[in-house]
Amino acid sequence: MEKIGFLDLKEQNQQVKAEIFAAFQKVFEKTAFSGGPFVQEFEENFATYTGAKYAVALSSGTDAVHLMCIAAGIGEGDEVIIPANTFIASPWGVVYEKAIPVFVDCDSDTWEIDPAKIEAAITPKTKAIMGVHLYGQPFNRDAVKAIADKHNLLLLEDAAQAHGAYYKGESLGKGAFMAGYSFYPGKNLGATGEGGAIVTNDENIYNHLLSLRNHGSKEKYYHDIIGYNYRMGGLEGAALNIKLKYLDEWNNKRRAIAKRFFTEINNPKVKMQTQLDFANSVYHLFVVTVEDREAFVKHLNTHNIFPGMHYPVPCHLQKAFGHLGYKHGDFTNSEYLAEHCVSLPMYAELTRNKVDRIIEAVNTY
Ligand SMILES: *Cc1c(COP(=O)(O)O)cnc(C)c1O
Repeated sequence: MEKIGFLDLKEQNQQVKAEIFAAFQKVFEKTAFSGGPFVQEFEENFATYTGAKYAVALSSGTDAVHLMCIAAGIGEGDEVIIPANTFIASPWGVVYEKAIPVFVDCDSDTWEIDPAKIEAAITPKTKAIMGVHLYGQPFNRDAVKAIADKHNLLLLEDAAQAHGAYYKGESLGKGAFMAGYSFYPGKNLGATGEGGAIVTNDENIYNHLLSLRNHGSKEKYYHDIIGYNYRMGGLEGAALNIKLKYLDEWNNKRRAIAKRFFTEINNPKVKMQTQLDFANSVYHLFVVTVEDREAFVKHLNTHNIFPGMHYPVPCHLQKAFGHLGYKHGDFTNSEYLAEHCVSLPMYAELTRNKVDRIIEAVNTY
């Protein structure tokens, strides 16, 4: 029985290897290693793909979150509301600017930020809400936006897991003020290295971001603001440009696998992420919860299946945020998820036979 890991990048990269190597050759011929025409072409294509007016390619998704915070004017002492159950990079950008992440609990069934819990976390210092489209499923953006508007707050979106997801029938970027993406190799759209992007529909924000990622300059050697070197490499841009053409096909394969999981997994001990009817997920991860995680994982291992865990510690209980003073019991839904989550194998190249095996293993637990 062949081993099934929770993610296997080999086959997908094999599919596009020849095409990507040919593109690398062009990058070498032009020595366009930092930014340049290949990155620009990717930006145009990615903006179109996400439905946004502009895209700014960056060196990682973490940089995307950071620059979203700066462009939103978040600074020392400001508070930003963030779901507790997200990858640690969502709050990084906030603390890089000496602002304060204020965590809120997730919904017990959708595991997305719970709009009903946001208002209690708002103070006079609150500047923004950062929503996360978790595991590839868009959160209830209209509900969160209504709260943001009522309190004069900005809404930032961490879309690092949701390339290609739809919200109310539209690509996510279309209605976003700013949305940050990651092209870490394991994401639905992964670079041949590190990468990230912000999409926006605001021209001023777009120009600000272009300057921020490039040493705060519009004209070389003239620096108007404090900036960063957050540029994307040319090889990454060239590879992403090729992979983007296949992303819908790959996402649809993930959707088909997810559909099988939803319809064929019938073990009452296994709970799946509740699907929101206005959200079309790209299933970056397929997370389930079980009461006895250790026993469940052991059972899967005996079937030569090795799941993942996203994420074992919620942000508010991370040591790095110890100074914020949170404690166990503050956000019970996020803590339950952290203690009981298991990520089933999920990637476009999972064969029918492997999906059969996963379903059978889950159902016989
Ligand atoms: C991956 C990820 C990031 C960070 O992206 P990197 O490219 O790894 O820096 C940010 N937020 C979320 C939710 C992510 O999953």
